[in-house]
Amino acid sequence: MKIIENASDLAKVISDLRAEGKTVGFVPTMGALHEGHLSLVKRSKESNDVTVISIFVNPTQFNNADDLKKYPRTLEADCTLLETIGGVDIVFAPNVDTMYPADYNYIPIDLGTMDQVMEGKFRPGHFQGVVQVVKRLFDLVNPHNAYFGQKDFQQVAVIRFMVNHFNLPLNIVSCPIIRSEEGLALSSRNARLSEDEKQEALIISQTLYGMMERVDTKTPKELVIWGTDQIKNAGLEVEYIEIVNPNTLESLTDEWVPSTVCCVTAYCGDVRLIDNMVLN
Ligand code: AMP
Repeated sequence: MKIIENASDLAKVISDLRAEGKTVGFVPTMGALHEGHLSLVKRSKESNDVTVISIFVNPTQFNNADDLKKYPRTLEADCTLLETIGGVDIVFAPNVDTMYPADYNYIPIDLGTMDQVMEGKFRPGHFQGVVQVVKRLFDLVNPHNAYFGQKDFQQVAVIRFMVNHFNLPLNIVSCPIIRSEEGLALSSRNARLSEDEKQEALIISQTLYGMMERVDTKTPKELVIWGTDQIKNAGLEVEYIEIVNPNTLESLTDEWVPSTVCCVTAYCGDVRLIDNMVLN
């Protein structure tokens, strides 16, 4: 695997590969890799000649300085894990100055209501930071296909919006959530959970599966109340539970629409966990 830290080195390698007619698949990450990330890498390797993964903890998408400080940084272990699935062609591991040089100018785009609901509401500025970093990475990596996890359901919607906004010539591929055997959605933040907390956190996915079973007999509003109680009673602090239209992210109260998604964010101790599921 080539590990590249420098933007101009990356640009040179990519333009040579593209000149040879190679297709480029790209998986942007913040590292501390797990099976969820690997599923995106595998998907990219199946469909492209070349796979690039980026590992960069992007400061501009953190609205909480402590969360940024505590975010795990494990480049060596990440490369070892990538080797277990045959590696990738390029690991792009830039530093902050490479990503945001002094002359780099990013003008925020209007994300409309997408930036005001759920993650947008509770993490002010988060999605502008996500759009900024992903746009910059797309400019540097110039991929044909880019792979994102449905785990960050709202993020995929925002990225698709951004790609349309800038009319970028690439495909966004959304991949299913990978869970532990017991159901916990894999996340780099899970490394900060104690063994007891990992058990307690299972209530999140159990609640989502429980909601799925109750779709035929309850309204979205009733299920939000039921789900909130389930998670609170298990000792977690619920930040929000929203049942939304998957296309508009509009909150549903009385009626179901096809492929309704329930999004949950809850704190287990001081670790913020997110999960979601298509309910019907
Ligand atoms: P992150 O490193 O957390 O920024 O995540 C990088 C990419 O991996 C994002 O597209 C995430 O949605 C995706 N991802 C994270 N966890 C999972 C998971 N459990 N299953 C599938 N994709 C995931």
